Parts: sequence; structure tokens; C-alpha cells
Amino acid sequence: MDKLIDIVVGARPNFIKVAAIIRELRTKFPEPGNGIRYRLIHTSQHYDNKMSGVFFEELDIPQPDINLNVGHLKSTEQIATIISRYSRVLIESKPDMVIVLGDVNSTVACALATKKTYPDLPLIHVEAGLRCGDRQMPEEINRILTDSISDYFFTTSRRASDNLMNEGVSPGKIFFVGNTMIDTLYTNESRLKQPTFWNTLGLANKGYYVLTLHRQANISSGEILGTLLESVAMAAEGTTVVFPVHPHTEKMIHNFGIEVHPNIVMTDPMGYLEFNYLMKNALAVVTDSGGISEETTIMKVPCITLRDHTERPETCQLGTNLLVGSCNPGNIFDAFDCLRAGKWRMGKDPELWDGKAAERIVDFVAGILRSGKEDKHTIYTLRPKAFGDISYNTIFLN
Ligand code: UDP
Repeated sequence: MDKLIDIVVGARPNFIKVAAIIRELRTKFPEPGNGIRYRLIHTSQHYDNKMSGVFFEELDIPQPDINLNVGHLKSTEQIATIISRYSRVLIESKPDMVIVLGDVNSTVACALATKKTYPDLPLIHVEAGLRCGDRQMPEEINRILTDSISDYFFTTSRRASDNLMNEGVSPGKIFFVGNTMIDTLYTNESRLKQPTFWNTLGLANKGYYVLTLHRQANISSGEILGTLLESVAMAAEGTTVVFPVHPHTEKMIHNFGIEVHPNIVMTDPMGYLEFNYLMKNALAVVTDSGGISEETTIMKVPCITLRDHTERPETCQLGTNLLVGSCNPGNIFDAFDCLRAGKWRMGKDPELWDGKAAERIVDFVAGILRSGKEDKHTIYTLRPKAFGDISYNTIFLN
């Protein structure tokens, strides 16, 4: 009988990451009877076409098997509702494993539902171990809680693996596999498409900036949000800034009555293929998104991050990302000056961000489910010394 994996998604960055894992599962386990089947659980934390549906279509993600339909609720209510609804699903039919991704409310809620319903059910966290050190950030709490009850940890960097070990996770449970968001980028690189507004806005390659903003620290105060938008508009010195606006941010701009400078062109949230085309051809991207700082690092596009810290330090140490602070106009102006002076460092790709993370994850998961034990040596050739002195596992496929 096939083993059943529940895979949980709920918000935009989850869809991008899961696309790579599902693609790999379809390749390796194309038909029933091959050993593994999965149920895609969508919490509908993000639910409309622009924040959810478009990604399923563009990235060939199958329709969810189960939709928890939580919709828009306050954070704690949303988490409570997801726990309650997913627990009911689990009680009705127990899977053999649950996979959660990233750091959104759906991640922590379904992790808790899993462990409270069946403490023995293996829980896997993809993109585990990321820490920015700021417990005021809601996503940091989601990361810490999810990791504290997960059984296996797939990480995007050695630093994330180290964070887990420092928190007492057994090294044998941690697997540095690379980055599924980058897998999806490589898979779709040749499919990226010019946005429909390209000509209307008179955009040209390397002739505009892209802006995204949705972190709570940047949008929950009218003063901070207004200052950030004004600073970016001024620092761009007349060059168009295209701003696909997250629904929460749009609501806050409206509630605070902020008048956005005409140099910033606001659009709806964009589909993946058009948005990544827009980033790839931009002079630079200004953002507070974690995922976007990873994609710009691989695309070699300068990234100015409007935050004080990052859980993805490799994007700054190796990649094209620069942290300028949550509300520091002086730094924003300096960053744009550096861009115009042509002094931005284009960097290099972080280790194992090679488009094969999902392959490593699926092989490992299949190994556990088949053998019923976690002995990695039955599944992999383990060469932990290949990239220097590390004490956790790095998975290399033969
Ligand atoms: N993204 C998109 N359209 C947009 C904005 C972002 O397709 O209008 C994609 C982006 O390329 C990346 C992901 O959404 O793959 C990042 O999601 P988000 O910034 O919402 O989440 P974070 O990474 O900050 O958790």
C-alpha cells in the first residue's frame, strides 16, 4: 500500500516552494502503487486568485485535495482555526508523514495540529532553522515554534543547520539540502514573461526599480510606511518604481491615508512569471521580503532590503542583498547612490542553491517512508567532509 504524505500550504511563498517538491514527487512517483501518494492541504490563508490561484495555474500545482478555507482572520484566530480544522482532517484519516514549509501561520498551525493529534507522526519542516534574532517579527515566532516540535529538518544553508544544533536539535535530524524556491526559479527561468503593463508604463531593461513591502514592522505604522515610500520615491530620482502591492499593505496605505508619490506605480500583486521577469530586468529591487532577496541573489540583481536583520545572511554575505534598516532614509539614499555609481557587488550563488533541493528532499522522504526508519546511511552516500568541517549532514545524490 502507498504511504500517504500530507503537504501543507497556505500563503504565497509556500506555493512557490511546494511547486518544486510536487514536481519531483510526480516524476518519481507518477502513479498510484509506486509507493508514495500525497494529499495537498491548502489552508487558504491566502485565498484569492492574485495571491493563490495564479500560482497553482502558472507553476502546475495540482488543485488541493483538501481546502481548510480559513480565509482572512486575525493572526491568532487564523492559527486557532487552522489547528482545529486540520486536526479534524487528521483524525478522519491519518497520513504517514506531514510536511510543512516556511514560516507562515499555516506552517506553525499545522505543525501543532499534527503533534497534538499524533505525537508519533513524523513532522518535516522544509526551510528549517532560519533565525533573524528578532522575536518581534511574527514569522520568527512561527519558525521557532515549528522547529521546536519537528522531527526532521531540511535547511537552505549551513548557518540554518548550525542554528538548529545550537538549539539542541540532534545533528542526525538536520539535512542541508538547498533551496526549493530557487529550484522553482531555475525550472521556470525560460518561461518568465513580460508583464502586460510593460509598454504602457514605458519600461525598458534596467530602466526601472521594483518595490515590495509587507512586513508588519514596515506597514503597521503610518509614519514608517509613509517615510519608506517617500524615501524610495525620492531616492529613485525620477526613475519609475513599480510597486506590486500586497493586499495588507494596500489596506494600510488606504487606512493611513498615505498619498503615494506618482513616481511609484502601484499595481496588483503579480503572478510568478511576470513578477520574476520584472525583477530580472530591473535596475534593483527594494523589498522587505525574504524570498525575494534569495531570488535576486541568484538573478544577480541588486537587492535593497528595508529591514534591520535577516534570517538569510548568505544573501548579504555572498549575494546581492544589502540591509538598509527598517526606517532609515539616509541608508536608502546611500544605497541608491551606490547603485548609480555602479559599485554594487553582484556576488555569487550560495552553496547548494543549484535547483536540486526538491530532489534531495523527496529522495530522503521516500527513504524514510520505505524503510520505516531514519537511518540515512541506507539512503545516501554521506560525505559530510566534502565541503569542509561540518558536523551535520549534507545530502549528495549519487
Ligand atoms: N511574488 C510574486 N508576485 C508578487 C510578489 C512576490 O510572484 O507580486 C513571489 C516572489 O517571486 C517570491 C515570493 O512571491 O517567489 C515571495 O513571497 P513574499 O514576498 O510574499 O513572502 P516572503 O518571502 O517575504 O515570506
